[in-house]
Amino acid sequence: MRRKTKQVLSRVGGIVLLAVLSILINHYITVTEKETFQDTPQPKGIMEVHFIDVGQGDAILVEVDDSTMLIDAGENNKGNLVKEYLENHGITKLDYVIGTHPHSDHIGGLDTILDAFEVQKILLPNVVHTTKTFEEVLDTVERQNLKITAPQVGDHYYLGTASFTILGPSSDSYEELNNYSIAVKITFGDTSFLFAGDAEALSEREMLQTGLDLRADVLKLSHHGSAYSSCEEFLDAVSPTYAVISVGKDNEYGHPHPETLQAVAVHNIKLYRTDEQGSIVFSSDGQTISVNTQD
Ligand SMILES: [Zn+2]
Repeated sequence: MRRKTKQVLSRVGGIVLLAVLSILINHYITVTEKETFQDTPQPKGIMEVHFIDVGQGDAILVEVDDSTMLIDAGENNKGNLVKEYLENHGITKLDYVIGTHPHSDHIGGLDTILDAFEVQKILLPNVVHTTKTFEEVLDTVERQNLKITAPQVGDHYYLGTASFTILGPSSDSYEELNNYSIAVKITFGDTSFLFAGDAEALSEREMLQTGLDLRADVLKLSHHGSAYSSCEEFLDAVSPTYAVISVGKDNEYGHPHPETLQAVAVHNIKLYRTDEQGSIVFSSDGQTISVNTQD
């Protein structure tokens, strides 16, 4: 009897010890993250943002010194194109990979990328999709021993001396898969870029409600220039100097829609399109932005 009591007591002691340890660890991590984040790191060198021409789809590479991020990787059959583009730019590892949402024109090429490069962190929205493409991405994530992070609105991350903030999705339940798109604003010195995958007006209005600063110099127009995105209030709030549409020539959806092109013109935004200009590269020194379409 006595021995049994002792065993039970030591087991209880072990559980208590574990609980105390996990509380301490959690506390430590939370405190550390909060204390080390500065909103505006001093920009060093040049930040490049590449809108890679993947036809109908998105693939965006962000480089800040040695730090790199890839937002989407085009369709299934564009994975190798994106991989070669990255290799040609001397990329061997990616600090962040964002799969904005599970449609194949965004995450199709991701499995190729995850297999080819050392990836530190992968961000995906908290939604599942029953397609082979989505399953391939999940399988690759598992094979590469990665852990998926579903970011929350307001989360901050560093990318070298740039930083980015999660603007969306605000909700965890939408009818339309596009609205789950992870939206980020990257800030480098005084310059900033906003990307929101295929987020539609509903998700854009939720971004307005977060109270976060949406102003950006460069806006990737959501959903390949669809009329269901880039609503008036959103364009007013972001108030970009430049906009980019990542879109395929003669696509079956009629993207970009005339309404979007008109809104861009009315707002006096300088527009770039991958179907007309191929890959488009923006460079920022933290103060000014230049554009190169000859890449
Ligand atoms: Zn899309």
